[in-house]
Amino acid sequence: MGGIPAANDQIITPNKHAEIIKKEGIKDTWKLKTEAVVIGSGAGGAVVAATLAKAGWKVILIEEGSYFTPAKFTGDEFLSQARLYRDAGFIITEEQTLSILQGRSVGGSTTVNWQTSLYPPDYVTNEWDKRFGWKNYGRQEMDAFVSEVHERIGVHEVPPNLINPNNNTLMKGGKALGLHPEVLKNNNRGCIGLGRCGLGCPINAKQSAFLTWIPDAIEAGATVISNMRAQYIKEDGKVKTVIAEFTPDAYEKAPNQIIEKMVIEASVVIVSAGAIEGPALLQRSGLGNDWVGRNLKVHPTSVNFAIFDEKINMFSGPPQSAVIKDGHNQDNTGYGYWLEVAPFRPTLTSSLVPYYGQQQFDVMKKYPNMSGGIVLVRDGADGEANASVKWSLGRRKVYFELTPTDGKNLLKGLKSLAEVQVAAGAKAIVFPFPDMTEPMPVDKNSKFDWILEKSIEPGRIAVGSAHPHGSIQAADSPEKGAVDMDFQLYGHQNIFVMDASVYPTGLSVNPQITTMSVNLRAARALAARKAEVLGNK
Ligand SMILES: Cc1cc2nc3c(=O)[nH]c(=O)nc-3n(C[C@H](O)[C@H](O)[C@H](O)COP(=O)(O)OP(=O)(O)OC[C@H]3O[C@@H](n4cnc5c(N)ncnc54)[C@H](O)[C@@H]3O)c2cc1C
Ligand code: SF4
Repeated sequence: MGGIPAANDQIITPNKHAEIIKKEGIKDTWKLKTEAVVIGSGAGGAVVAATLAKAGWKVILIEEGSYFTPAKFTGDEFLSQARLYRDAGFIITEEQTLSILQGRSVGGSTTVNWQTSLYPPDYVTNEWDKRFGWKNYGRQEMDAFVSEVHERIGVHEVPPNLINPNNNTLMKGGKALGLHPEVLKNNNRGCIGLGRCGLGCPINAKQSAFLTWIPDAIEAGATVISNMRAQYIKEDGKVKTVIAEFTPDAYEKAPNQIIEKMVIEASVVIVSAGAIEGPALLQRSGLGNDWVGRNLKVHPTSVNFAIFDEKINMFSGPPQSAVIKDGHNQDNTGYGYWLEVAPFRPTLTSSLVPYYGQQQFDVMKKYPNMSGGIVLVRDGADGEANASVKWSLGRRKVYFELTPTDGKNLLKGLKSLAEVQVAAGAKAIVFPFPDMTEPMPVDKNSKFDWILEKSIEPGRIAVGSAHPHGSIQAADSPEKGAVDMDFQLYGHQNIFVMDASVYPTGLSVNPQITTMSVNLRAARALAARKAEVLGNK
């Protein structure tokens, strides 16, 4: 079992508040001054905090969620979802068209993610270059940053003995059909396949941000504070102020004495609050142009649950070790779908199976024999979608629209996935269409062209996401994006956005490696301008 880095003892959790209140003589508000405040501790924020601190910046990182050690990763689904995920794992769009999974703890979504480690193909980064001025983001040009990220978080190919039956459905079925299933890379040191990534790795094998970049930041002098939610950013010329408030853990009684409010004055503010909360924070602070919150991308995802005779136990083993990318680039448009599996636990499975009452109960009895195959779509084939984040009337609202071509790609992916599942030996499939009231028996003669005719209207197909991104997109002009190519907010000097919000199009791969690499590059470029930015040139 990997140890907990000693530096993490310095994370300021609610248990340390009484001591700080006494030491600092805090009345009701803790006032601090620093050079950079980072808001959010996920794939983006943790990397940025570590990079700036190592370059000698005075950094404070605040995180709304709690700090957990493996002793708290109990595997209890209800408890863990409430504590480790935003909105307890169900960020629901206003039209109820989409349900989004996103992490909320020190480490952000990396604490609960499934370890898949990929970088987008060149046709995606070329599109970023041509349309939005993203220069030199191709895989080769980014190699130094991607390799550094790989090295820090232990990225390597999943060994054959850890490819579980769930992922094997893709390997077996894909090969039988002449597709090209690939073994994935994961980020861990010493994974033994307990399959608990989504509820927090209990043996510290998965190299989440709270085991890597966060202790790096602390060792380099950064102050990391959990349970503090940035409510507003205020700008008064060169001075920025972040006002943050205490957020209690969903299941832990807060100590009697807590710091209720913080006011942090800083020269630089970096918003790394993820693609849902980041735009909401900027909007309620009155910052940024009208691209803030627009063009949210999510990688719309649907599930075919295939039922096998043999046991699959999809909760067991590393969650994702295989991928099929044959559908990635439909008609050379750069847009399309890819196939993976997900480690759906019983609660998530029961919420995704589109049946009710006795039928749902009967299907759930087959849970040990079910494989959760997923289709993920690179959204944006039809241009900007009507998908966005809006702060209005004191509430964050998320909107999502599945556009015609993205929807078509999703249906094509579901057809291909069904074929793969049948080729792997599936005996029945639960499709994500609520008008189908029972699993469909399947065999080698089954045909799935009918899937292409299904409706993608809201409510006619169950769609989810674990990849919100791109809602504060970067571009080389304010007509095309909210932040410039240094990821600085247009019109607001020294307020930056560095997380998965900055992508100008759907990413086309699971986002953690890209998010770390792209923001490592941005943070290093900012760090190199320290004297100029902090005004002591
Ligand atoms: C279940 C699941 C599985 C996934 N599997 C994979 C995978 O296998 N491979 C992969 O590449 N990607 C995966 N992802 C996605 C990947 O982890 C995310 O895309 C990535 O972590 C996004 O980085 P980020 O910094 O933008 O946001 P996050 O990592 O989500 O971090 C944002 C942080 O900011 C905090 N925050 C928000 N608002 C505030 C505020 N106002 N004040 C203070 N703090 C705030 C949040 O609480 C959160 O901790 C998965 C995600 C989930 C949820
Ligand atoms: S599969 Fe289990 S041991 Fe491996 S990283 Fe995930 S939670 Fe940890």
